[in-house]
This record gives sequence, structure tokens and C-alpha cells, in this order.
Amino acid sequence: MSQLENKTFDHKITRRDLLKIFGATAVAGTGIFGASQQAFAKSAAHVVVVGGGVGGSTFAKYLRFADPDVKITIIEQYPEYITCLRSNDVIVGMHTLDELTFNLDTIRSKYNVNVVIDRVIGADFDKKTVTTAKGTLLSYDKLVVSPGIDFKFEDYEGYTAEMAEGDFPHAYKAGSQTLKLRQQLLAMRPGGTAIIATPQNPFRCPPGPYERASFFAEYFKHHNPTAKLIVLDPKDSFTKDVPFKKAWERLYGYQTDNALIDWVSGSDGGRVVRLDAKNNMVETDGEDFYADLINIIPNQRAGKLAQTLGLTDRSEWCPIDRNTMESALHKEVYVLGDSSIADAMPKSGYSANSQAKVCAQAVADTLKGHHPGKAIYSNVCYSLAGENYGVSIAAIYEVKDGLIQPKGQSAGVSPITDIPAQPILEAVYQKNWQREFVKDVFS
Ligand SMILES: Cc1cc2nc3c(=O)[nH]c(=O)nc-3n(C[C@H](O)[C@H](O)[C@H](O)COP(=O)(O)OP(=O)(O)OC[C@H]3O[C@@H](n4cnc5c(N)ncnc54)[C@H](O)[C@@H]3O)c2cc1C
Repeated sequence: MSQLENKTFDHKITRRDLLKIFGATAVAGTGIFGASQQAFAKSAAHVVVVGGGVGGSTFAKYLRFADPDVKITIIEQYPEYITCLRSNDVIVGMHTLDELTFNLDTIRSKYNVNVVIDRVIGADFDKKTVTTAKGTLLSYDKLVVSPGIDFKFEDYEGYTAEMAEGDFPHAYKAGSQTLKLRQQLLAMRPGGTAIIATPQNPFRCPPGPYERASFFAEYFKHHNPTAKLIVLDPKDSFTKDVPFKKAWERLYGYQTDNALIDWVSGSDGGRVVRLDAKNNMVETDGEDFYADLINIIPNQRAGKLAQTLGLTDRSEWCPIDRNTMESALHKEVYVLGDSSIADAMPKSGYSANSQAKVCAQAVADTLKGHHPGKAIYSNVCYSLAGENYGVSIAAIYEVKDGLIQPKGQSAGVSPITDIPAQPILEAVYQKNWQREFVKDVFS
């Protein structure tokens, strides 16, 4: 039962109460849920979703498909959401941030979802309430959180969140840092050196750093042909490394004397341990590297909110029931997307979207007293190794032996062929997929 229907909620409801419960934006229209939103039956369950990014928005939309009667509220801290998808493109000028910017207006109006722009700062799982920075207290029957990721700056001596906002942007959450990194790339001196330091597993968008590296190399090829990129990696392999490296050979002279891109594995001393900002130097396990541009993409953990709410375990990610995405630590609370431990599924927007759909059905089933079925998930990660050169990895996932695992022989990576059209077509699929994907999430 939500706070509005709670039998213990026995005093008259005033506009002030409503403001407290739903926030100013939500009460601005004629009804509780605003001008365009219908009222719900008193018995309607209330599902509160925290985070209006990929996981949260998809969940709200698909829960509405699964249950026209449930009350849904999304609490999102920012009025606008900039997708990380295609944010690497912005760095090299293939897209603008405006093209990646969305809001929750359609989710609100078309799917009858109450949208509150506020930051959740706490929850009481016994009382089933969440509290926000502006002082709103909201009751829920089911709570769904999809708060994204947080960065482990403490893993790097000399690197801080403040420095990432300044001269050392990680640009791994799209926004002003993305533009700063673009400026730095454009300002690089002829023949200069850039470094991209990649994170340890697991992290958001496993191909993201390597797509970014490819874009840097392509940019150098056209605008700064004597420049060089060094990719410093704490790992000895990475997702789609075979097709990525083949693309680097074909496009950027990888492993030749004139290579525009060099990759240093963990075993060869690629793990960055220190940033010397004054001297534009990074220290790894084995060596000091000086560069004109340093882009450290830090190690990661579940979003801050997941930590604050006690939804993480010792791994600093959120354990879940693999068939429903319900937290393994707190009943009636569900964790989606990058914050969750989804085993073999990568931390991608596609995965978050797939998990949100499974979770929406599970929540709808549970609210109707039905047992949720067995989950099937899917993921396709498309990346560009050049503007017209695509590589992809895909799988269907099932829950087997207590883990989310690829189903049968469903997993696959782009084949290496001599057919020139093959990577070109993959690039076309990538661009089309990204355009359609954001529609599935926000429209
Ligand atoms: C460079 C790059 C490229 C990428 N490209 C792709 C791609 O091509 N394909 C793909 O599938 N994936 C891609 N991804 C990954 C994708 O962006 C993420 O996996 C996806 O966004 C995860 O969704 P999420 O819901 O977990 O988190 P997010 O989408 O980050 O959403 C989290 C939301 O929660 C909100 N929030 C957090 N805390 C609070 C709080 N306390 N109160 C209220 N709101 C809160 C945030 O403001 C945010 O809106 C890419 C990532 C990067 C970095």
C-alpha cells in the first residue's frame, strides 16, 4: 500500500502533504499526477523507481505495458539525461551532446508515470519509504533502483573527482567532461601523445574505452598523423579484442613502426597506479608515461545510492535474484542495470534495458499474486572501430546453475573476414540500433 492509501495515514490530505509526497513538479497539474495523468484506484499499488536513465525509464514504460493500473513514480535527480551511448562520438565531433539529451516528458505523459526531479538520499526498508534531498517522503510497495555507477578514484594516487571535473576528465558519464576531452583532443600539438587508461573489470560498457581509443586513432589519422595514442590496460585481454585489433591493424597501422595506436597489457605494465598531474605523467606497475593528454577511466563500483541504501555486498556491486532482479539483500527492492551483479551480462545499456523488461514483468506478476517466470535476457554491444567500421558482440542469456549465462551457442563476436562490406554493414547496424534504442527507452 502506498502512503496515500495507508490506513495509518488518517489525517486529511492537504496540498502541502501532496507536495511532500510527490514533489512540486508532480502536483503542478490538476490531479495528483498532473494535468495529463489519470487518477488511480485507491487499492492501486505504488512502484517507485529511482533513476530515470536507461534501466529506470525502460522499467517504468514496460511496467505500464504490463499493468495499466499500477501507480508508478520515477525519481530522477536531473531534469535532463545525457546518454553515454554515442558520447565517444561527441569527442571526435560525430555527434553533439544535444543529440544525446533526453528527458522524461514522454514517459510522464504517454505512460502515465509521475516524475519527480529530486535526489533520493535514503530509504527505510521496514517502513517502505524513500526520502529525497528536498525533504519529500514517498511510500512504496515496490522500490526499483537503477542508479548507474560510481568511480573508485582512490585506486589512483594523485587522481580525484575534482581533477576529473578539471584538466583530467574521465568522460565516462556523458556531459561537460565529454566536451572537455574533445577540446583537449583538438588542442593537442602536432606529433603529441595521448594516453587512455582503461579500468579493471567489471565496468560500464566494456568496449567503451577501446571504441574511444579507435576514435582517437582515426582523428589522428586525419588531423594529426604524427601523433600517437597509448592505451594502458590493467587487463591482458578485453571484449572484442580480436576484431578491435584487426581493425586497428587495418586502419591505424597497429603493431607497425608507424602505428597510431599502441596497447600495453596488464602483464606488460599497463596498470596505472599514479597520476602526476604537474608533470603530465602517469606511473604504471612498470613504467612512467608522459603525455600531452591523459584520459584515465577509473575503476568502478555500483552507483552511490546503491551503496548508501546498503544494497551492495563486499564486491561493491548489488547481488540480485537472477530471475527477477530483486535485491538478494532486501525484499521488495529491485536493482537494475550497471549497479547489479548480472554475471556474464556486460554492464551495457542494452543489458539494463533487457533487465528492466524482465523486472517489469516480474513486478507486475508479483503484484497480481502470480509467480514470476524464468528470465531470459539479451545483449548486443555494437561499437565503432572507425566511423565506418563496426564490431559487435551478442548473446541470449538464461539463468543456469544459479548464474546468468549465455544460452547454448547463442554468444558470438563479429567474425574476421576479408569481405570489405562486413565491417561497413556492422557500422550501419550500430548507428541504426543506437537511434532505435533510445526510442525504446524514452519514447
Ligand atoms: C562512452 C560510453 C559509451 C557507451 N555506449 C553504449 C552502447 O553503445 N550500447 C550500450 O548498450 N551501452 C553503452 N554504454 C553503457 C550505458 O550507458 C550504461 O550501461 C547504461 O546507461 C546503464 O543504465 P543504468 O540505468 O544502470 O544507469 P544510467 O543510465 O547511468 O542511469 C542512472 C540514473 O540514475 C540517476 N540517479 C543516480 N543516483 C540518483 C539518486 N540518488 N536520486 C535520483 N536519481 C539518481 C542518474 O542521474 C541517472 O540518470 C556506454 C557507456 C559509456 C560510458
